[in-house]
Amino acid sequence: MPTTRCFDIGGTKIVCADVSECGAISEIARVSTPTSSYPAFVSALSSLCNDKNGTGSIGISIAGTVNANTQVINSVNIPCISGKALSGQLSEALNTDVYVINDANAFGLAQAQFGKARNHDVVLALILGTGVGGSIIINGHVINGEHGTAGEWGHGPASAARTDFALPAALCECGQPKCIDVLGSARGIELLYQQLTSLHCECPQIIDMWQSGDAVAAQVVDVWLDVVGGALANIVNFLEPSIVAVGGGLANATSLISALDTEVSERRITPNQPGLLYSATSGPEQGLLGAALHCLAQQGLQH
Ligand SMILES: [Zn+2]
Repeated sequence: MPTTRCFDIGGTKIVCADVSECGAISEIARVSTPTSSYPAFVSALSSLCNDKNGTGSIGISIAGTVNANTQVINSVNIPCISGKALSGQLSEALNTDVYVINDANAFGLAQAQFGKARNHDVVLALILGTGVGGSIIINGHVINGEHGTAGEWGHGPASAARTDFALPAALCECGQPKCIDVLGSARGIELLYQQLTSLHCECPQIIDMWQSGDAVAAQVVDVWLDVVGGALANIVNFLEPSIVAVGGGLANATSLISALDTEVSERRITPNQPGLLYSATSGPEQGLLGAALHCLAQQGLQH
């Protein structure tokens, strides 16, 4: 069975594997990501392709946006590749075709092909973790947008319309205050807790406290649900996906995602339709599967 050599590249580690057409993953190696030296970055990938001798294309899922027209990457986590047309440069360096996809898009593709979102025409995939991201997959195709940022719903104003809570004026990396990316992420849960108590507490602990019935943690989570659920209700009304995959660190808290599903259901214009959101794993496997699917699609070998 033909396989694709794939890489899932995050800000800390690179996972390399061969992925078969039916989605079977054979991991080859895990190495740390060189983030400041581009030659070291290329060398890390090259050393994991030596056995291929230039045969077969390579698929890469990366923590960064990919301009669909120019292939130029913008990555906060891996500064050495920012501003580079990575697929072209790596194709030359590795002597084979290289196709690069944003990690949230890879996650969405993997869920739409191999996950619970399979057989759904309009799929929204969300990342809720240290930041907020996402992707839109329609009929198995990623919607990129002109600059590759389609699905990035985190960079706009957060609102707490239901709870009327005074949100902390945290500045986002994009330059705007009170972004959903800041207040709807794990960091946002910590900021909301700090706003109420003047104390710092780690997100997993706050969620544990919420599950044990702690009143302050309950208020924090209620405001978080208001912020994220309100923003999502907007998107669901606009796009009307039939399923929403949720990945990222917060997706591990399945009771939190279930509460978010209820919040969205109650606030969309077609109410009382719970079961839209589901928790999905979003580890390296999802990036590898998405990278393989993207690679096949770009070669006209759609799965
Ligand atoms: Zn922002």
